[in-house]
Amino acid sequence: MDLRFTPEELAFRAEVRAFIGDNLPDDIAQRMRQGHSARKQDILAWQRILNKRGWAAYTWPKEWGGPGWSAVQRMIFLEEIQAYPAPEVNPFNVTMLGPVLIQFGTQEQKQRFLPRAANLDDWWCQGFSEPGAGSDLAALKTAARREGDEYIVNGQKIWTSTAHQADWCFVLVRTNPQAAKKQEGISFLLVDMKTPGITVRPIVSIDGSHHLNEVFFDDVHVPVSMRIFEENKGWDVAKFLLGNERTGIARLGKSKERVKFAKTQAKEMRAGGRPLSEDPEFRRRIAQLETELKSLEITQLRVLSAEKAGEGRQNPLSAVLKLKGTELLQATTELAMDVGGPLAMPDWADELEALSNEPELGPVWATEATRSYLFLRAASIYGGTNEIMKNIVSKAVLGL
Ligand SMILES: Cc1cc2nc3c(=O)[nH]c(=O)nc-3n(C[C@H](O)[C@H](O)[C@H](O)COP(=O)(O)OP(=O)(O)OC[C@H]3O[C@@H](n4cnc5c(N)ncnc54)[C@H](O)[C@@H]3O)c2cc1C
Repeated sequence: MDLRFTPEELAFRAEVRAFIGDNLPDDIAQRMRQGHSARKQDILAWQRILNKRGWAAYTWPKEWGGPGWSAVQRMIFLEEIQAYPAPEVNPFNVTMLGPVLIQFGTQEQKQRFLPRAANLDDWWCQGFSEPGAGSDLAALKTAARREGDEYIVNGQKIWTSTAHQADWCFVLVRTNPQAAKKQEGISFLLVDMKTPGITVRPIVSIDGSHHLNEVFFDDVHVPVSMRIFEENKGWDVAKFLLGNERTGIARLGKSKERVKFAKTQAKEMRAGGRPLSEDPEFRRRIAQLETELKSLEITQLRVLSAEKAGEGRQNPLSAVLKLKGTELLQATTELAMDVGGPLAMPDWADELEALSNEPELGPVWATEATRSYLFLRAASIYGGTNEIMKNIVSKAVLGL
């Protein structure tokens, strides 16, 4: 196991960093620096710039418009994007649907959807979870009845991120309710969100944002040609997709960026009559987080090193990356919020602003840090909850 970066990998990191610096539009860079989450138009603009360079579909092979990078290059790329910070590419298009199409799609499906997914000409969302099917995803009930060369879909999905902005949705449906095992009667369909019978209802999350939705299907007609892989074999496709989803969720670059950001802002904030950055308790907290981030980075390199050595992609250690990565993401976003102190309370800041003649009272970064902290409470739920990750670690890593 060699955990050092090669000179080529270090040069690659420098190239990615320089590309972001030279090409990320100033207004987007400014918003991201203040801690805003990227808007749809920001992601569209940036993903298209990356796609021109051949980097948007960063996990795909060259044949389908990706850069054909190694696992280490992919990790470096993602870390640089998060650390800058620049908007991340749409994960539903790039890390979920794209690899599924490449692995399981027909030639026609690949040619039709892959170039558009890379360039974000189609915005995809993921219709997996249902009110009775989250951790136990195979319990899903949304049904697809076959009539000639169409499926008629009825049912409900929930927690569908960005469904209100999406052009297409990849959906798991039950095509054989009589199958002996619940995993056996499932199929994977591509559904055009403009199809009659689809209703999208917003769910507003704790940070006040509209990211999540319920999606209802009432007699929605989907051509059979929009099915990926064989009928009733959709579970194989779903497992493949979830493995890819989890590997990318650690977001080490984002956690590192939050710590760096907190250290910078702490120089401006005061605690006990001196800069917060000089406070011993604050410094202890930073040291602890940086040590844990370093440990996670080494675990991530171990996973990649095993991948390089050909031990296969579905390493159960990736459950540790998801588990520890999201715990650190929550701890570092909490740190950034705490640095803001009272300024980090959005409601309070609004009230103070109303009473004041000053046009701008609190730095916007502080309230945005709170929004980010609140939204990322969900990081230990999406992509498989941390309790489920602990089950995987106990069984597949520790052999308990
Ligand atoms: C912000 C956000 C975005 C999301 N985006 C999408 C999306 O775009 N598309 C999509 O399809 N889904 C999405 N989801 C849904 C997500 O995948 C589910 O919320 C998740 O799988 C958990 O399912 P659940 O909410 O039904 O909780 P449940 O499965 O009901 O779990 C409830 C609690 O019980 C625990 N639990 C359940 N089973 C076990 C077990 N066997 N052992 C120990 N503990 C257990 C869980 O850990 C959890 O604490 C999103 C969720 C969030 C929060």
